Amino acid sequence: MTLAVLTSRALAGVDAPAVRVETHLAAGLPTFTVVGLADVEVRESRERVRAAILNSGYDFPAGRITVNLSPADLRKESGRFDLPMALGVLLASGQVSVPPAPGGPGDDPLTHVVLAGELSLTGTLVPVAAPLAIALGTARDHAHAELILPAVSAAQAAHVPGLRVWAAHTLTEVVSHVTGAAPLAVARPAPWPEPLPLPCLSDVRGQGGARRALELAAAGGHSLLMVGPPGAGKSMLAQRLPGILPPLAAEHALEAAAIASLTGEPGCMGTQPPFRAPHHTASAAALVGGGARPRPGEISRAHHGVLFLDELPEFSRRALEALREPLETGQISISRAMQTVRYPARFQFVAAMNPCPCGWRGHPRHACRCSAEQASRYRAKVSGPMLDRIDLHVMLPPAQADWMSLPPGEPSAAIRERVVACRERQVARQGEPNAALVGHQLEACCPMAEQARELLRVAMSRLHASARATHRALRVARTAADLDGDEIIAERHIAEAVQYRLS
Ligand SMILES: [Zn+2]
Repeated sequence: MTLAVLTSRALAGVDAPAVRVETHLAAGLPTFTVVGLADVEVRESRERVRAAILNSGYDFPAGRITVNLSPADLRKESGRFDLPMALGVLLASGQVSVPPAPGGPGDDPLTHVVLAGELSLTGTLVPVAAPLAIALGTARDHAHAELILPAVSAAQAAHVPGLRVWAAHTLTEVVSHVTGAAPLAVARPAPWPEPLPLPCLSDVRGQGGARRALELAAAGGHSLLMVGPPGAGKSMLAQRLPGILPPLAAEHALEAAAIASLTGEPGCMGTQPPFRAPHHTASAAALVGGGARPRPGEISRAHHGVLFLDELPEFSRRALEALREPLETGQISISRAMQTVRYPARFQFVAAMNPCPCGWRGHPRHACRCSAEQASRYRAKVSGPMLDRIDLHVMLPPAQADWMSLPPGEPSAAIRERVVACRERQVARQGEPNAALVGHQLEACCPMAEQARELLRVAMSRLHASARATHRALRVARTAADLDGDEIIAERHIAEAVQYRLS
């Protein structure tokens, strides 16, 4: 054989598109050329591939070697193509041959095999970035695919169902596997890390109204804005939201972990929903993603979890504007000269703000120094369209002076049980949380008692509410009814939903 064709996966955003690695060996002066928009790292891999082949006890063929990575317009980074390139050189030079597939001589036995791994000079394999993205992409594209990865990466990839994942330590082991001499070990999924202990809602004393809003937000997946003076407990409450959310479904946990693995930080693999709380000095790029080599931003790291923006009006207008697309579509596209990448960003949006720049407006024991105009300008920093996308608006009263003497609040574990049961009702009825109900589905899923319908009509016309605001109230009322176990929305559910509306 003078031509070997193998399959690998590149990385574009959180997608891992397939890459054909074609290795051709021809007579001529010895050269080793990699074509197909290879960047510096891929060019460096020529040296690694050569050394790994020699140090694994094979010959590096004398002749013209051309490796073509296709499609050519795909940006390919990192040394992940070392392994398929090295195996390609060994196959093309005839040093390694693969027994024919059971399907007959015309069937390429390596068609279903996807390989990725960086080689060290000694021929051992170094873990690749984002193995979960590779595995999710492979599983989506082919049924019965096999994945050969460095052992550490394989243990992560093995979480993805529908794939056979092999764990390899060296180039020699991979060769023995494809020749049938000694199969690789089947990768066992690395156990999910123990969930971190989350702060409990029993720490929050008083603030019954806000606690109820938080429970509704958790139960229906609703976005939440808390307005109140410093010390009222806004951030304490937000930090306790993950502790009352339902655990992530397995596929959502994998998607969240795949994004975390792109950032190179230890991922929060597990069924605990992610919680991200970027500081208000965060740039638009840090918030939504970007950079010369695009990286996911906070909104994508909060995918399937919670994004909490404290002191919302302090964020730059540019950062807040950048949130509009993902709030609407659940994803973000980042365009760069060479490529456009897409990151998913379906997060639950929670925000907090003071009522005025100094924070004390309306407080019984502190004097507010702000003029009425300053206070209204402050609130106007958060644009109407953004407020319009928030289902629950809640005003927190100042903390009571004697809050220490109040009894502890209900613990998170008890609230979470109600939330989980409520979410199950929603998923059984419509397949998704109430917050995602729109249009026709909203009407179909929200049967109302006669008085409830009348109350909604009167309240919304009195508030001059838009259709969007009416839908927002209806979604919240649906969740209130689901928490009560009622299929028909009653007057009291509408009454509660309407009050979560400050604007
Ligand atoms: Zn003030």
